[in-house]
Amino acid sequence: MKALVIEDSQTGLAVISQHLERMGILPIAATDGEAGVAAFRQHNPDIVLLDVVLPGMDGYEVARRIRAIEQSGEWTPIIFLTARTADSDLVQGITAGGDDYLFKPVSEVVLAAKVRAMQRILQMRYSLVVLTRKLDAANQELTRLTSLDGLTGLANRRHFDETMQREWRRAARYKRPLALALVDVDNFKQFNDTYGHLAGDECLKGVAGALHAVSRRPSDLVARYGGEEFALVLPETDLAGAKRVGEGLCDAIRALRVEHRATAPGYVSISVGVASMMPGQDGTGPQSLIAEADLALYAAKAGGRDRVGFKQIEPVAG
Ligand code: GH3
Ligand code: MG
Ligand code: MG
Ligand code: MG
Repeated sequence: MKALVIEDSQTGLAVISQHLERMGILPIAATDGEAGVAAFRQHNPDIVLLDVVLPGMDGYEVARRIRAIEQSGEWTPIIFLTARTADSDLVQGITAGGDDYLFKPVSEVVLAAKVRAMQRILQMRYSLVVLTRKLDAANQELTRLTSLDGLTGLANRRHFDETMQREWRRAARYKRPLALALVDVDNFKQFNDTYGHLAGDECLKGVAGALHAVSRRPSDLVARYGGEEFALVLPETDLAGAKRVGEGLCDAIRALRVEHRATAPGYVSISVGVASMMPGQDGTGPQSLIAEADLALYAAKAGGRDRVGFKQIEPVAG
């Protein structure tokens, strides 16, 4: 531990230095304000003992400079040394950034007690900083966990809803298309009935992993929409692009070749409904995109499953 002693009286300096050394503290001496501020910068002491009356810059000014040098979150205890006993000195010292007062001549036991008290505060401060860091990390982890689906590790419905709102607003602002792919596992009730619910869970995990692997853009979000349904938010994607992504999703699940013997193809498949919109200022929200993708998904189911559905653009009459 290092203590910076800023004191212009050589005798005072010698006495305090002796006290400190007996406490196992290394004294660093400075005999005026300028030298004291320079020594503070150079040695980064654990505590500062600061004389009020100094030639040139006084102790109050030195305290203000030291407080200005400290980085935010840093704090070095400053104890003023004064021969005066006026209350106004004490007020001025605390206002300038001091933490405590010692009257001269400095008593060894009082100095030892005050240094110990400051050390205790420093230790508590340090523990608090460590605790705050741990709390920050825990909070970050909590935020991450509350946005994840427990079974698949994909983004959960809450995260999906937030992303849809945000991407919808962003697309409207930049006049860019936003696409959505809704995915539903085909005949999944039968899968559970055939292989059991636990096997069904494993199947969903596999499907989730495959869907995630297909989405390539960092801005894409793959989420578990609910049950055996998944959703991909695809910013900057038109209908043609969304259809391609949808085909890629179907291919990926086919490639998994998860047995589903109760169905005709014999393997697990998905149906996908895709839609793309140019969000405008017309007051509609992401709900309209979800509704359109949902209709497209229904069309894919009705069309025979294991395929991508989308809204056909009706030819203009005449
Ligand atoms: P379709 O092809 O029309 O989509 O038929 P489906 O059987 O997949 O559709 P339905 O909505 O009738 O059934 C969905 C099934 O998904 C019923 C439900 O028990 C099952 N399911 C939903 N969430 C989970 C889950 O977390 N784990 C398991 N194992 N099954 C789930
Ligand atoms: Mg002096
Ligand atoms: Mg379903
Ligand atoms: Mg289904």
